Formats: sequence, C-alpha cells, structure tokens
Amino acid sequence: MFRFPDHVPIPPLSAKKHRTSCQYCIVGCGYTVYTWPTDVAEGGLKATENAVGFDLPTSALSGRWISPGMYNQTVMQDGRSYHIVIIPEQGYQVNQGNHSIRGGTNARGIWNPDGPTADRLTTPLLKVGGAQQPISWHAALTIASGVLQQTVAQHGPQGVAFRMYAYQWFENTYAITKLYFQHIHTPNAAFHNRASFGARRRRWKIRA
Ligand code: SF4
Repeated sequence: MFRFPDHVPIPPLSAKKHRTSCQYCIVGCGYTVYTWPTDVAEGGLKATENAVGFDLPTSALSGRWISPGMYNQTVMQDGRSYHIVIIPEQGYQVNQGNHSIRGGTNARGIWNPDGPTADRLTTPLLKVGGAQQPISWHAALTIASGVLQQTVAQHGPQGVAFRMYAYQWFENTYAITKLYFQHIHTPNAAFHNRASFGARRRRWKIRA
C-alpha cells in the first residue's frame, strides 16, 4: 500500500524551476515545478533560504503549503534521483496561486520507480495470442500507419475517426491533430472533455 511521505523537503536555492500547466483538466491552471537531486540538502524555512521565495511554514489554504500530494521523486535521464515539488503558480492569471484537490496532486502522477507509478508502460503493446506483448515503437508505428492507410483506401478519409486527450496546452496535441486534420483530412474527432478547439479553432481548419 502506498503511503504519503511524512516529510516534504523544501526546494533549495539551487533547485531548477520551470512553469507547467495542470495535467488534469481544460481550465489550465498554472503550476511551478522545482527539481533538485536527492543528494542535495533541502532549503531553509526563510524566503531567502529556499527556491519558493516565501517563509515556511504557511497555512494549508494559502496555496503555498507544499502538501505531500505536491511532492514526488523520480529518476531522470542522467540516472540520478531527483526530488520534485509542483505547487500552484502564485499570480498566474487562471488560478491566482490556488488549486483544486485534483490539481494539488500533479506531482503524484510522475513516474517514480519506488511508487505506484512504477508499473507505467515503457513500450507499446500488441495483443498476440490473447495476451499483450511488448513491441518496438517502430513496429507499432508501422502497424498503425498500415491500418490507417488501408482504412482510408477502402472507405475514404471519413472512414477514420480519432479520439484524443486535450489537457494542458495545444502544443501537446499538435502532432496528432496535424496528422488527422491536415494529412488524413477527416473531420471526425472527439476531444476528451472538450467540445471544440474554441477560439483557436480557425488554426485547425481542414485544408481542402
Ligand atoms: S487545478 Fe483543478 S481546476 Fe485547475 S486545471 Fe487542474 S484539475 Fe483543472
């Protein structure tokens, strides 16, 4: 059974800091991410001693309290273990430093080899002989493109429909929307929890 940590380290002044958007819904709340190696000492309680820039501890409803749900560990591509803290961005125009219960757990979804996300898939799977078998990305893309080409050849572009996630920013969905709208030319699309591309829809207009 997974247990939340009973201590969340404070990002030190040397922590890397970048912005992100909540991964969970289309409101698009802004968050600040802090990462630093686990063998580096944590920051201090004073604003001048930590990377978050405010005195700690602070109240749970201030949006500044780093809850256990806002903390995780991972292993980066350099092979080192890192602390990760993701807290709502103070002053961001959408959420103004606030967060929902779900948004307050953004860090928990990060891959952690010692946590519940350790079983995340690392390769595509193909059902062969009644069981899912890992296959290479090259094989997966070859199969997918072959099936798409066959379907378009038999039924035309409208014989193809796609369903996709639409969280975070549009940049994350650029490749798949370009493939289906611009190259396959199908109008059949369903975006998870999004009725349309809204104000930016004209950017995704189907080209004749
Ligand atoms: S913090 Fe909550 S409301 Fe904001 S984007 Fe995430 S899930 Fe949506």
